[in-house]
Amino acid sequence: MANFGTRRGFFAWTKNALAAAGVLNVAPGQAVAATLPATDYYDKLGVAKIINAAGTYTALTASIMPPSVQAAVAGAARHPVRLAELQKRAGEYIAGRLKCEAALVTSGASGSLTLGTAACMILGNRAATRLLPLEVSTLKNEVIIQKAHRFGYDQAIRNCGTRFVEVETLAQYEAAFTDRTVMCMFYNAAEGGQITREQWIAVAHRHGVPCLNDAAADVPPISNLWNYTGMGFDLVAFSGGKGLRGPQNAGLLLGRKDLIEAATWNNSPNSDTVGRGLKVAKEQIVGMVAAVDWILAQSDDSMRAECRQRAERIAALLRDVPTLSHEIFMPPVANAVPHLVLRYDAATVGKTPLQVSEILRSGSPSIELNPSTGRKSGSAGLPDAEDAIVVGVWMLQPGEDMIVARRLRDALLKA
Ligand SMILES: *Cc1c(COP(=O)(O)O)cnc(C)c1O
Repeated sequence: MANFGTRRGFFAWTKNALAAAGVLNVAPGQAVAATLPATDYYDKLGVAKIINAAGTYTALTASIMPPSVQAAVAGAARHPVRLAELQKRAGEYIAGRLKCEAALVTSGASGSLTLGTAACMILGNRAATRLLPLEVSTLKNEVIIQKAHRFGYDQAIRNCGTRFVEVETLAQYEAAFTDRTVMCMFYNAAEGGQITREQWIAVAHRHGVPCLNDAAADVPPISNLWNYTGMGFDLVAFSGGKGLRGPQNAGLLLGRKDLIEAATWNNSPNSDTVGRGLKVAKEQIVGMVAAVDWILAQSDDSMRAECRQRAERIAALLRDVPTLSHEIFMPPVANAVPHLVLRYDAATVGKTPLQVSEILRSGSPSIELNPSTGRKSGSAGLPDAEDAIVVGVWMLQPGEDMIVARRLRDALLKA
C-alpha cells in the first residue's frame, strides 16, 4: 500500500499516518503537496472529525474525495464559466468514457431518479415541464415496479407526480401496462423480486416504455458503470459520492440521448421545473468528471485486495479475544467490497456488539462502525449481525485500520 520507493511517497505516507493518528492537523489522505486551508472549519465549528469504519453512508458524509478530485474541485472554483456549456461538455466526456449515449451530472442518485422520471414524463413535450408534479392528468404518470423493489428512494420518483403500479410475477408485469405507463423502475440491489433485469427490459421495450435502473451504490465493480446501459436500461442512476468517490452532492444519470436531453430540461438552471432545486455547481460537475477519471484508473482487484488486507490486519490484532472468529464478507451487489465481520459470544466477552459500537463512538477520535453491527437484519446486502461487529474498511484512510483495531481490542478485552 505505502510507496516507500520515493521520498515523496514516504512523506505522503508518513503524513497520512500521522494525520490518521490525529498527530497532524491535516485531513488524512491529503496529498503532501496540497496547500492546507488557513482555517479548519470543523475545529472552528466544534464538529467532530470521525473515523469512518462504516461505509459510504450519506449521514456520515459517505466518502472522501481522492486528492485528484479535491484538486479538480478547488481548480474549478477559481473561474466562472457558462453553466450550459460545462454541463454539455462534462456529459459528453463522461458518456464517452462510460460507453453510453449520453450522461448528465446530477445532484446525486436521488436527483438522477427525479430527473430521469421527469424526462420519461415530458419526452418530446418540453412545455410540460411546468405541469409536474400536480397537473399531470394529461401526461403518462404510471411507474411499474416489482413489489420487492419498493425502497427508501421512492419519494424521488413520486416527486414528479407519478403513481406506482406494483407487480410480482412476470404475468402480472405483462398485464400491468396501460396507455398511462410512463416508466419501468428497477432497483438494482433489491434482495427480492422474481423478474430479472433482462426480462424487465425486454417486456418494457415490447411496450415501448423506458426502464430506469437505480444502481446508486453498485460501484465497484467498475464495469457496472457500463454494464447496465449496455444491457439495455434506458437510464441508469449512480451516486457520485459513494464508491465513485466524487463530490457528495453529485451523481450520474446515464443513458439514451433523447431522455438525457429531456432530463436537462427539468434540471437547474431551468426555473419552474421539478429539478430546479437539484442544483449542481461548477465545482461538483468538474469534481464528478475527475471522479470518473479516478475510478477508471483503479482496478477492482487492487481495491478488493486493499480492503482484504485492512480487514486481516484488524482481525490479527483481535486474535486473542475469547470466542472471537472473523469472516471477510463481500455483499453481492451494493457495497460490493470486502467487509470484516467479527462474531463472538457477548456473555463471555462481557459486551454486546452495540455496546462496543457505542464505546468506539464515544471515544476519541470517534469511530463509526457499520450500522449492521448488532442488528438482526443487515443493511444493504450485509449479513445479519445481531451477534457480530461489522467493520466497513473501504472508507478508512491510510493508517486508520490500526487505530480501529486497537480501539476494538481495548473495548473487547478491557473490563
Ligand atoms: C445512496 C442511494 C441513493 C441516493 O444516492 P445520493 O447520491 O445520495 O442521492 C439512491 N438509491 C440507492 C439504492 C442508494 O443506495
